[in-house]
Amino acid sequence: MTQPLLSLWINGQSQASQSQRAADIFNPATGEVIRRAPLADKPDVDRAVAAARAAYPGWRDTTPLRRARILMQFRELLQAHREELVGLITEEHGKTHEDAAGSLQRGIEVVEFATGVPHLLKGEQAEDVGRGVDCHSLLQPVGVCTGITPFNFPVMVPLWMFPVAIACGNTFILKPSEKVPSASLRMAELFHEAGLPPGVFNVISGDKEAVDALLAHPQVQAVSFVGSTPVARYIYETGARQGKRVQALGGAKNHAIVMPDADLDFAANALTGAAYGSAGERCMAISTVVAVGAAGDALVEELRDRASRLNVGAGDEKDVDMGPLITGAHRDRVRKLIDSGAAQKAKLVLDGRQHPVVEKSRGFYLGPTLFDHVKPEMTIYQEEIFGPVLIVLRAANLDEAIALVNANPYGNGTAIFTSSGAHARRFERDIEVGMVGVNVPIPVPMAFFSFGGWKASLFGDLHVHGMEGVYFYTRSKVVTSRWPTGHKEDPSSLSMPTLG
Ligand code: NAD
Repeated sequence: MTQPLLSLWINGQSQASQSQRAADIFNPATGEVIRRAPLADKPDVDRAVAAARAAYPGWRDTTPLRRARILMQFRELLQAHREELVGLITEEHGKTHEDAAGSLQRGIEVVEFATGVPHLLKGEQAEDVGRGVDCHSLLQPVGVCTGITPFNFPVMVPLWMFPVAIACGNTFILKPSEKVPSASLRMAELFHEAGLPPGVFNVISGDKEAVDALLAHPQVQAVSFVGSTPVARYIYETGARQGKRVQALGGAKNHAIVMPDADLDFAANALTGAAYGSAGERCMAISTVVAVGAAGDALVEELRDRASRLNVGAGDEKDVDMGPLITGAHRDRVRKLIDSGAAQKAKLVLDGRQHPVVEKSRGFYLGPTLFDHVKPEMTIYQEEIFGPVLIVLRAANLDEAIALVNANPYGNGTAIFTSSGAHARRFERDIEVGMVGVNVPIPVPMAFFSFGGWKASLFGDLHVHGMEGVYFYTRSKVVTSRWPTGHKEDPSSLSMPTLG
């Protein structure tokens, strides 16, 4: 049986793709194809950009207050359709209902932040920067923006981008992951219902072909990307070469340092959630623990105990802690990485390949896996696994642990578990990572702060949402003005002024 083919959302309506290509969308809990996503081609992209370009002057000239009111209405509709959106997230991604609801909530908070845009767009002003001369700055929209998003947060990551861009007066084309496009299309309908004019927000499903067409399009001014590091690097380099502004958030290998003075019970609870929540498919998942000194053996025992009790199953079932992985291919990749860890002689404390659900279900499951005594040269340390696999390395002291984290090419999130203020302060200052938790395992900044990593976890300068998001989606303009009153000011001098 052929599964239904989704549409694109262009110019305030569903439109069929002209492309001949499409991708299967799976329900990862059952392994079945549930629908298909068109893979947009260049003519599709051209239509979306033309709609966004045509809508831009009218939207730019809509007052920030009116834009904010449409965002408020959109926020109400997201709340009212909560269950439906959560259902789509769980159905296409596999994460549990509760986790999906949490991710929607974090996305809604960005919409709430963006409703403050009349205030956020206020510039600076100074009088008398010279004799009779005043100066003020403006933040103006950049034009047509695009967002390219990963599979692992079908709603939250798109919401990091488009509400802020649109609040600032830009128009937007979202290219969600072809594995999970339905929630984005539904959000476009809701935004339209909230009163957004046609063409301001467009959604096209697609893959590299659509991304390349967006990157090459002369009318696209700004590109936001979230996904894996190799693609982030490619997007950044290609977009920058075309003269676009780009923020490209990449992959991660997030470490948590556990000091011997930490509350081990608390740390083990926090780390179990941070490692295995969403089956480890979170860019802020803790995938690596660095156990310092005497913390090691007891912590590993606590982690094994908790991980082995997790309930693995379909995300829409009651009391399930952890769902499946996104596709069969990804599950097989994670399984191979577990094979490699065992072959390279890391100590396999808990083997998710043996979990009963793996045999029982046709879904893309693996059970929680725990490795101890991992060494930095092992493949399971070198690669981002993006699955329910937690690895533990040992360090003799805090210096060694910090050096290990800083030597890692990624710099997205990190955490320390300790009861010492001195250790925490040292960690906070010296760690080369963008988002830092102190006894907080997944230190995701709230919407009114900015989210982003360092090193191979971010290409570009500005993080998403918060004020950095506002700066990314605006250009600043500085106006210097003088209103001559008639008295002589030596207007004929050719020299730069030496006094204020
Ligand atoms: P991905 O890089 O495979 O895909 C991301 C997006 O890029 C998708 O829309 C996809 O269609 C597109 N894409 C894929 N290959 C492309 C190519 N060759 N050229 C152009 N576009 C391409 O990532 P994914 O598998 O969807 O998501 C998982 C990754 O995202 C992990 O590495 C994870 O760490 C990362 N991630 C990072 C953050 C963060 O905030 N830094 C947040 C979420 C996910």
